[in-house]
Amino acid sequence: MKLDSKSPSGPLQEKWERYRLEMKLVNPANKRKFDVIVVGSGLAGASAAASLAELGYNVKCFCFHDSPRRAHSIAAQGGINAAKNYQNDGDSVYRLFYDTIKGGDFRAREANVYRLAQVSVNIIDQCVAQGVPFAREYGGSLANRSFGGAQVSRTFYARGQTGQQLLIGAYQALERQIGLGRCQMFPMTEMLDVVVVDGQAKGIVTRNLATGEIASHAADAVVLATGGYGNVFYLSTNARGCNVTATFRAFKKGAAFANPCYTQIHPTCIPVSGEHQSKLTLMSESLRNDGRVWVPKKKGDTRLPYQIPEAERDYYLERKYPSYGNLAPRDIASRAAKEVCDEGRGVGPGGKGVYLDFADAINRVGEEAIRERYDNLFEMYERITGESGYKTPMRIYPAVHYTMGGTWVDYNLMSTLPSLFVIGEANFSDHGANRLGASALMQGLADGYFVLPNTLGNFFASSKQAKIATSHPEFRKTEEEVKTRLHKLLSIRGKRTVSSFHRELGKLMWEKCGMARNEKGLAEAVARIPALRQEFWENVNVLGNGGELNQSLEHAGRVADFMEFAELLCLDALTRAESCGGHFREEFQTEDGEALRNDEQFSFVSAWEYQGPDKPPLLHKEPLVYEEVKMAQRSYR
Ligand SMILES: Cc1cc2nc3c(=O)[nH]c(=O)nc-3n(C[C@H](O)[C@H](O)[C@H](O)COP(=O)(O)OP(=O)(O)OC[C@H]3O[C@@H](n4cnc5c(N)ncnc54)[C@H](O)[C@@H]3O)c2cc1C
Repeated sequence: MKLDSKSPSGPLQEKWERYRLEMKLVNPANKRKFDVIVVGSGLAGASAAASLAELGYNVKCFCFHDSPRRAHSIAAQGGINAAKNYQNDGDSVYRLFYDTIKGGDFRAREANVYRLAQVSVNIIDQCVAQGVPFAREYGGSLANRSFGGAQVSRTFYARGQTGQQLLIGAYQALERQIGLGRCQMFPMTEMLDVVVVDGQAKGIVTRNLATGEIASHAADAVVLATGGYGNVFYLSTNARGCNVTATFRAFKKGAAFANPCYTQIHPTCIPVSGEHQSKLTLMSESLRNDGRVWVPKKKGDTRLPYQIPEAERDYYLERKYPSYGNLAPRDIASRAAKEVCDEGRGVGPGGKGVYLDFADAINRVGEEAIRERYDNLFEMYERITGESGYKTPMRIYPAVHYTMGGTWVDYNLMSTLPSLFVIGEANFSDHGANRLGASALMQGLADGYFVLPNTLGNFFASSKQAKIATSHPEFRKTEEEVKTRLHKLLSIRGKRTVSSFHRELGKLMWEKCGMARNEKGLAEAVARIPALRQEFWENVNVLGNGGELNQSLEHAGRVADFMEFAELLCLDALTRAESCGGHFREEFQTEDGEALRNDEQFSFVSAWEYQGPDKPPLLHKEPLVYEEVKMAQRSYR
């Protein structure tokens, strides 16, 4: 396997424009001759499917939800970044680029990140034109707020429902194409494998989740927009259905998996409340614009928050990082919360929580102004905890939230499996080892609306496409493999539920490869996962049959993939003997507990190649060459 990033040459600022000029185009009349499969209808998938259909390609779009509107993207709360500089506070494309590279702890590809910052401004125009109701100032201009890792206000938002509003925009565009007959939508249809013919991705095999029917779909290119894999940890802020199946099956068919160990732990989530909880809830980072994070100075202080005087509170983010304060990036804020809780200064049950306090902001701007900015988030918090964030500080704790790792893609967003493109959270993306808040929506929509529609056309125009039909034997073979696996899962009839295996795997992952990792724990996880996987395949109990709606079977297939993928994730974490961003190895830290990178040995993207069921995956390295930015120890002090 050869990794070629295909980053264009020339000055950073001109790369994308020049590349677009040099790209070959597909004649409008010829576009309808190309079939494209898009798997996923979240922000990345819906925007890509709509844009490609609008251009004239024949598109088929798949999702496992009953409507494209139910994709996990709908949960996104706080906002979307763009370098518009509406606030005149010093923002620019270059600053957004630099903040993203630095925020990712210098582990992202320069050319991609610069393009992302450039395209960010077009996204806002596109969404406004669609009617996305972004918050506005009194005079009508779009409002902004700040997010972590930036000293400018560049985040566009629609209260605490930005993802929902953006998805309605993309969904409308998609529906229009469905109405025009250019895009065919397949809801409740799960992709279970990629079909490879002559070394190219030429289609997929799916299962209809309502009827159990296994079917094949052929295309000239396959696009995966299937989201992130945070649920390998069982408990996360992701929607329950988020999984790694599509990208992991693609991995087994030749698409390298990049940086699987880069997972993001978000500092502001509602703390875990019990053993049988199946989901965690995010409290948007936007709340840190007005909320102040603190814990008592004294260990084991059980007084109620209002009983603790100012002088006895530790606003630890403001103390440690005076220039960014409560808006320190997520990896740093999460570790700082863990540190104070480990010291015995955490609050709430089990001492696993810190306060997010709005009292100062309410005194300053009034409760009404805070309601206007975040009311749905406060309401959500109250429904879950029974406490009002207006009256008492919220309690928060870090939780798994986002995955920076994903399928390795080049500058064209194509994987190492030719004609397989991967976009949105599913690819290894532009965020390096840590994503800045409000940048996932930006990347998903950049990929779907602006990057892929260009690069896919260039791919079609510059390579010869053999038309493959689903009658090709490779489709039959892949269908048989899919059916055998489903049959196997259904025939075990063991004694443990799918959830119990998922929970055990997640606990192991959180303990050994969570907010902090070390060599011993990772080696232990790598050794324990195969045993758990074996037990799964011998003792899992999947009820029902395959010819009907069977959520136990769906879950079992996804957990089976997590069982294999978890080992790859831990292996990647073990191999990366440095700390960077969301990957914090306890052995590698500065004297004051910050991540200590090793640029000399680890300034590369890890891209893992599948070698077969009984062989360890092979590590390939894409060197990260910084021509524009000088790598430095990250500082937010
Ligand atoms: C609670 C929460 C709040 C967030 N808030 C923000 C925010 O304010 N700003 C920000 O920038 N980011 C935010 N994020 C991150 C952001 O929401 C996600 O990274 C982003 O929405 C992912 O979009 P996507 O299109 O890549 O994937 P998703 O939205 O996850 O969509 C995946 C799609 O793939 C389909 N799919 C998956 N597997 C298969 C399969 N095998 N077969 C068929 N279909 C499949 C699903 O049905 C779905 O349609 C937040 C995340 C969470 C969890």
